[in-house]
Amino acid sequence: MNELETVVGLEVHVELLTQTKLFCGCSAAFGAEPNTQVCAVCLGLPGETLPRLNQQALEFAIKAALALNCSIAGEVSFDRKNYFYADLPKGYQISQFFQPIGTRGYVEIQSAGEIKPIGIHQLHLEEDTGKLLHVGDILSSPFSRVDFNRAGVPLIEIVSEPDLRSAEEARLFLQKLRSILRYLDVSDCKMEEGSMRCDANVSVRPRGSSALGKKTELKNMNSFRSVYKGIEYEVQRQSRLLQEGGEVLPETRHWDEGAELTRAMRSKFLSANYRCFPDPNLPPLLTSRERLNALQEAIPELPDARLERFVREYSLPRYDAEILTATRELADFYENTLAVFPVPKAVSNWTMGELLGLLNEAGQEIGTCKITPTDLGELLKMVQEEMISRNMGKAVLEEMFASGEKPGVIVEKKGLVQISDEGALAEIIARVIDQNPKSVEDYRGGKKKAVGFLVGQVMKETRGKANPQLVNEMLKKQLEV
Ligand SMILES: [Zn+2]
Repeated sequence: MNELETVVGLEVHVELLTQTKLFCGCSAAFGAEPNTQVCAVCLGLPGETLPRLNQQALEFAIKAALALNCSIAGEVSFDRKNYFYADLPKGYQISQFFQPIGTRGYVEIQSAGEIKPIGIHQLHLEEDTGKLLHVGDILSSPFSRVDFNRAGVPLIEIVSEPDLRSAEEARLFLQKLRSILRYLDVSDCKMEEGSMRCDANVSVRPRGSSALGKKTELKNMNSFRSVYKGIEYEVQRQSRLLQEGGEVLPETRHWDEGAELTRAMRSKFLSANYRCFPDPNLPPLLTSRERLNALQEAIPELPDARLERFVREYSLPRYDAEILTATRELADFYENTLAVFPVPKAVSNWTMGELLGLLNEAGQEIGTCKITPTDLGELLKMVQEEMISRNMGKAVLEEMFASGEKPGVIVEKKGLVQISDEGALAEIIARVIDQNPKSVEDYRGGKKKAVGFLVGQVMKETRGKANPQLVNEMLKKQLEV
């Protein structure tokens, strides 16, 4: 059999960061006591329960669609998707079936050194469902509880074209999507809290073929790692099946994180018929040119553009620029530090090496870091002016990270100021030369390395405070007399 090629399309659900739900005034905050953020509208109770569209959710969805290079529908309309499930109190979900807000967009990823556009089939706005909480083991316990706090929280669903050719490309696409949506501030995209969820349509086909193979739908992947591993597993499973002369069944499969394999959940005979129809309570809304223009203007510089600018404007290596622009917070931190200490590569080295190291170790993100860009800039100035050594600088940074104190305060408190005064060093250098005749002899006899030992002795005498470069120069001058 020919070599096989992987084909993946993703369906990504993202909860929007609005204060309230999509069609009522209930709080959309995550983590509250179950069923404390509900009302007649989101519970679908009879009576005066008309939905009212949350304008902020609509604007967030349009911004996301614009940032993903989609065409925007001239009219926003909502439809009812009818089905029964215990987490859906109304018996239907309000979604956009006939006319999604955004269509025919794309996102660029960098795969194997090449920029590759991944098509966005559509982006639409819909409400989330409630959440079933299984009591005990899902297979043996007869009980489930339901929490309706999530019912009605605004979601966007982003459906990619089947343009992804590997598990790695799927992960890169998802990461790029998260980065863009976070730059826009429309979602926090936390896969572990479920504010970003991803299903994958996976199939394989003979390389060179343009027809799509039979696909399975993969669910329950709760991290970037599990998206990668789930797809990887499914590709292997399908390839093995085909190579053995078997057939891939169109079914929904569940990624089992613990066992690291996929299991069949249910077979898909036909796409379900949800009898969608326009929601009579939500009349279509025109999206005016003015409103779209205002939203387009409110879109900040996005990660790709910022990366290119960092390379161009600050002459940074692409690697540095990629890391620094991964989140808007980090990129802002970097540029705010540059405003105080305008040496791009030095700020990049300290930010990527020292600061990100400390953050990773503490499991923290830049947003909660106690060090301000101004303070980092001040610290780097001290290092550049040789007021303190590089090593002292690192120690001061650790202290700043722990306490949030200003670098000047820490340096003074600890008496860390570097000795760069020739007068103060001359006496110590003379003493060290006197006390180490062997090394002096070695140096004069041609073993130039011996000077290192003597520098070390001066550093020891000054408890690390001497400016090593200056000591080096002064020593050599003395020894060559
Ligand atoms: Zn409500």
